[in-house]
Amino acid sequence: MTAAALGFEAVFGRPAALVAEAPGRVNLIGEHTDYNGGYALPTAIPQKTRIEMAPRDDGLIRVATANVGGGAQLSYRAGEEARRGLWLDYVQGITAVLRDRGVAVPGFDARIASTVPLGSGLSSSASLLVALARGLRAMLALPIDDVEIARIAHAAEHDFVGAPVGRMDQMAASLADESTALFLDTRTLAFERVPLPAEVELLVVDSGVAHQHASGDYKTRRAECERAAEALGVPQLRDVDAAAEQRIASLPPPLDRRARHVVTENVRVLAAVAALRAGDLVRLGALFDASHRSMRDDFEVSVPAVDDLVESARAQPDVFGARLTGGGFGGAIVALVKRGSAAKVGRAVADAYARTPGRRATVLVGGAVS
Ligand code: ADP
Ligand code: MG
Repeated sequence: MTAAALGFEAVFGRPAALVAEAPGRVNLIGEHTDYNGGYALPTAIPQKTRIEMAPRDDGLIRVATANVGGGAQLSYRAGEEARRGLWLDYVQGITAVLRDRGVAVPGFDARIASTVPLGSGLSSSASLLVALARGLRAMLALPIDDVEIARIAHAAEHDFVGAPVGRMDQMAASLADESTALFLDTRTLAFERVPLPAEVELLVVDSGVAHQHASGDYKTRRAECERAAEALGVPQLRDVDAAAEQRIASLPPPLDRRARHVVTENVRVLAAVAALRAGDLVRLGALFDASHRSMRDDFEVSVPAVDDLVESARAQPDVFGARLTGGGFGGAIVALVKRGSAAKVGRAVADAYARTPGRRATVLVGGAVS
């Protein structure tokens, strides 16, 4: 066992002074809308990142993680953050952004342990960033609220780590809880917590497909959205009215399809919030299905394996709807399932998937028999 697989005291030889946590998230609907200034509807999942910390007085920052390479430990000096292309960049990003904002970040020891699977689209990165920002807020008694924590986490990931991410993940990690959906305006960061009806539970199943060029394709989609917005004469696709169907259709392909996805997806988020409030699960499920079709046909971010998972989930009894969740090019599906049935549906979907050689699905959320 490597040092970081042990607890804080075993690694650093003294007890932790504080513990901070933040959850992973799954997005219910509103995909590829966040970098277009649009709406999203994530919720927190049970898995979380936990950080134990204790301050140091010598400016050294030592960080151990239990989740990389069976346990890893790296260090740097406060104020000497430099991108290394490693997991430590997420930690350095937070301390660099805080310093940019005038916070005198001292040295500290930190031990990270996460139950959010890394790189599966459940936002382990944002949960790590937000947990650390919360830990430093507590350690230094910083007067910042949860939206500010999300802004700091976004700046760390976007500007320091260099990942071209929107604002949904950090807002979800900072503000979402498991019993509500976080209705989020990613332009203003205004948010509202909408209760999830007690009659449903969520099922998240990973396809095991990780697209090699996912980040390149993500950048391409972002660029296509920017070009579409420019051609339509608006700052962002958020500003396109759904009634502008004709104008969207007149864009050169594939910009017409890309714009149509974003514009209709924003409308679907608003409709999903209305359906949640009305307790209309059939309508909500239909919106999940429509969102999947739009991601598959217009935004072209699905893959056949994920389409099969979605179809197989939809064919199960007690499923209201299912869709690809997250950026796409592989990844996971989220299904809206009658409470009490998610574990059974998850098993059936995973079994059907495994009948194709080389395919193996993993139930990430909803697997426990309730
Ligand atoms: P996702 O956020 O969907 O899980 P990302 O690629 O955005 O996937 O973020 C995963 C990266 O975040 C990891 O490769 C690692 O660099 C960093 N990370 C996340 N959680 C941890 C952790 N517990 N310990 C160390 N690094 C982590
Ligand atoms: Mg991430």
